[in-house]
Amino acid sequence: MEKKIVKTTCTRDCPNNCGILAWVENDLVVKLTGNKEHPINNGRTCVKCNHYLERVYHRERITYPLKKVQGKFIRISWEEALDEIAGKIKEICKTKSPESILYYQGFGARTALKLVNRRFFNLLGNTTVTKGTICGGTGESSQNLDFGTRISHDVKDYENSNSMILWGRNPVATGVNLVPMINNIKDRNGKVVLIDPVNTQTAPLCALHLKPKPGTDAYLALALSRILHDEGVEDNDFLQNHCLNYEAYKRVVYSRTVEEYATLCNVPLEQILEVAKVLKEMKPTAFVLGWGLHRWEYAHTTLRAIDALGAAAGSIGVAGGGVSQGFEEYAPYDWSIWGDELQPKRKRFYMQLLGEELKNASPKIEMAMITAGNPVSMLPNANLTKEALSEVPFLVVVGHFLDDTGIMADILLPVTTFLEEKDIAASYGHSFIGPLNPAISPIGECKSDFEIFMELGKRFDFAAEYVKPLDEWLEIIMKPTLERGVSLQQIFDGGVYNPDTPKVPYLDKNFPTSTGKFQLMNDFELPEGRDLDYKYQLMSIAPKEWLCSELSLEEQKTLLPVKINTEEGLKLGLEEGKVCIVENQFGAIRCLAEFDGEQRKDLVVIPRGGWGQAGRNINELTRGLVSKVGDGTPYYETRVNVRSM
Ligand code: SF4
Repeated sequence: MEKKIVKTTCTRDCPNNCGILAWVENDLVVKLTGNKEHPINNGRTCVKCNHYLERVYHRERITYPLKKVQGKFIRISWEEALDEIAGKIKEICKTKSPESILYYQGFGARTALKLVNRRFFNLLGNTTVTKGTICGGTGESSQNLDFGTRISHDVKDYENSNSMILWGRNPVATGVNLVPMINNIKDRNGKVVLIDPVNTQTAPLCALHLKPKPGTDAYLALALSRILHDEGVEDNDFLQNHCLNYEAYKRVVYSRTVEEYATLCNVPLEQILEVAKVLKEMKPTAFVLGWGLHRWEYAHTTLRAIDALGAAAGSIGVAGGGVSQGFEEYAPYDWSIWGDELQPKRKRFYMQLLGEELKNASPKIEMAMITAGNPVSMLPNANLTKEALSEVPFLVVVGHFLDDTGIMADILLPVTTFLEEKDIAASYGHSFIGPLNPAISPIGECKSDFEIFMELGKRFDFAAEYVKPLDEWLEIIMKPTLERGVSLQQIFDGGVYNPDTPKVPYLDKNFPTSTGKFQLMNDFELPEGRDLDYKYQLMSIAPKEWLCSELSLEEQKTLLPVKINTEEGLKLGLEEGKVCIVENQFGAIRCLAEFDGEQRKDLVVIPRGGWGQAGRNINELTRGLVSKVGDGTPYYETRVNVRSM
């Protein structure tokens, strides 16, 4: 029996990108454990990792190419599939225009080699691609405005923090590597505060949990800043000497009293004063932000107010401080490989408005290819997305399962998992670059995105420029990092920190803004929410148990839970564990009522990622909208009513 342990990296759409050991016997992974040598996860993994092998070897997994014929999928060979796709592309380019071809690249896995996917479409001509993000674009753009560029503190730097504000972050569900840091701060008699309207699994770990009215966190940040200013304990040196717009920011802070802010964010004044005390007395404070904060139309107002609070609290450019919300996951790569400069005039659809964009497209989209994503489940306004995709004459989906998007494909290409691939992975949650060493042979006939695009590339006249061996492409893509003295061997032996990312950013108080200063917000705009005639804000959150829409049908036999405040639930005549209807102007779904006495009364919580074919797609109710800054997706700008059956 051949046994081996392979060092690899989890590449799922998760900020942790844990170092993983795959324990292999006779080309079969028998278990996955955390890699103790990995400096970020130090051997930890999560519940999703514990179940990942079920997904890899699941009987619903698609392991050979499928073609839809008269509404039914039939098995075809790779040659047939790729010939048909290449033939269709050539026909559209010749008889119509490359613009009639849409490439949608999801965020399912953001490894180095994925850069060549878009290059393929750029070499074809001015094909249509997407813009915007359903993830953290708003936060990145906001921090680019304030800091010049978004860089977070290394997770290990929290060993220097005496307090931490987890703002909209739920490490127990989505950030396992932060949990030891929370405990580390508590062990040193520091304080960890949670600010989140939702009663999450992280709340029991925190000394204090503030639950602002959804979408009003900016008022809370301004209240805290106002208290620091009123008491004369703001970081005056930093604000005066290293910030732009200080006077304008102060005018914003002083535009309301602390009591008015408390009313607007609906947090008891005593709790706000308690957090202010932490900021004054337990420095340095690390502000660690989550992704829920991004899911509002005016998210930048909130994010910039928190950045500015970090400045007032003396947290910027100091060890143990920071306002951290993520890293540039493409930082180690040569971005020119995407090839976007080849097509400067091409059309880009907002990904979060995919349905609308497809419906309004001129020229009409004749073919779409989707990789690393399940837009029907993950994009807002799912019914429109589904309807519009069903009108695309030729749809190619590269995926693992017949999920809500896969099931619509004309051709479905089965793709490998990270356990079957060689590649390199950076992260949006830290700056460690990890290896993907293939643990097993591809399951069935699955191929990686890289192999699929190289095979397709061979069928076009740009093959000589495009088709290269995997290692050669890695050398090209990783050039900026290799030039900093890192070798591919080092990465494949276990990984390295990105040499360009500091552990504590902005120690020298020089910021890559046009003025070299930290740029404080100088105005404030936060309109009242929409659809107030619906009673509850819908918080469609990332659950602890699964990642995005990585599910099987077998796992989705029960309805989605809807968590509602106990008193509210009883008032509505709901019964715990019984079916109820959650509805709004976009649709209605059936859920199982779950009561929580600690939850705010003005919101309901439903996990995201379920499939419509199982009656579990919460995005059938969410609004398609683009945030004002950063082209983000304001999923939480959705309100619903709940009623019993
Ligand atoms: S899903 Fe996230 S936390 Fe879990 S193993 Fe993968 S990277 Fe780590």
